[in-house]
Amino acid sequence: MTKKEMLYEGKGKKLFFTDDENLLISEFKDDLTAFNALKKGSEEGKGALNCKISKVLFDLLEKNGIATHLVQVLSDNEMLVKKVSIIPIEVVVRNIATGSLVKRLGLTDGEKLPFTLVEFYYKDDSLGDPLINDAHAMLLKTVKDVSELDKLRELGNKVNEVLVPFFDAKGLILVDFKLEFGVDKDGNILLADEISPDSCRLWDKNTLEKLDKDRFRQDIGSVRAGYERVLNAILN
Ligand code: ADP
Ligand code: MG
Repeated sequence: MTKKEMLYEGKGKKLFFTDDENLLISEFKDDLTAFNALKKGSEEGKGALNCKISKVLFDLLEKNGIATHLVQVLSDNEMLVKKVSIIPIEVVVRNIATGSLVKRLGLTDGEKLPFTLVEFYYKDDSLGDPLINDAHAMLLKTVKDVSELDKLRELGNKVNEVLVPFFDAKGLILVDFKLEFGVDKDGNILLADEISPDSCRLWDKNTLEKLDKDRFRQDIGSVRAGYERVLNAILN
């Protein structure tokens, strides 16, 4: 598969065209950003860790009937993916209150939520990815109809139902995570982007130690060491 010109460079990945118009190469970068890119950093090997972790999780989800964009892993930090038109909604799924949810609603940090909370954020860096409701999503023409929003909520819940017990069996708590979906050339909704410690909060079940990007946000220990623990846990 030939890597052609770059289509897009984001904060955590670069996307490249290939000789197949329906396929892209997603290259995971070592760069780290937080707080809408106000905080910047880099950690050698982080991209490769995220690529490997995403691969395991995409495979697991595929096995459980959730269609993803992953075609195959090409190298330490590159995967071949199906090109989709990204739905500009970040689907955030939460099991435990932390981060912006605690700030917004005054909940207790670490409190278990009585049900899985699925939220939509409008994917727009210049606006700081604001929380939106269904009416806002329709107003912004992010989806063609309300049923697509219901579909995204259903998929968010389904992914959670697969990932929570999976991580639990590996000694990790899946606190919350962000998903991105896109529409492929045939109109199918595919899970795209990545599922990694950059996009999930994962805590050690016994010690509640944070093993995800909060280590970078809050300067609490080596990012790489945390991500390595996640990878090793899910490979065992
Ligand atoms: P961002 O800075 O927006 O977080 P990333 O660094 O994560 O961007 O780069 C990935 C970009 O590529 C994101 O905008 C994401 O929506 C998009 N993307 C992810 N998977 C696909 C795909 N299969 N097809 C097209 N675009 C994708
Ligand atoms: Mg991203």
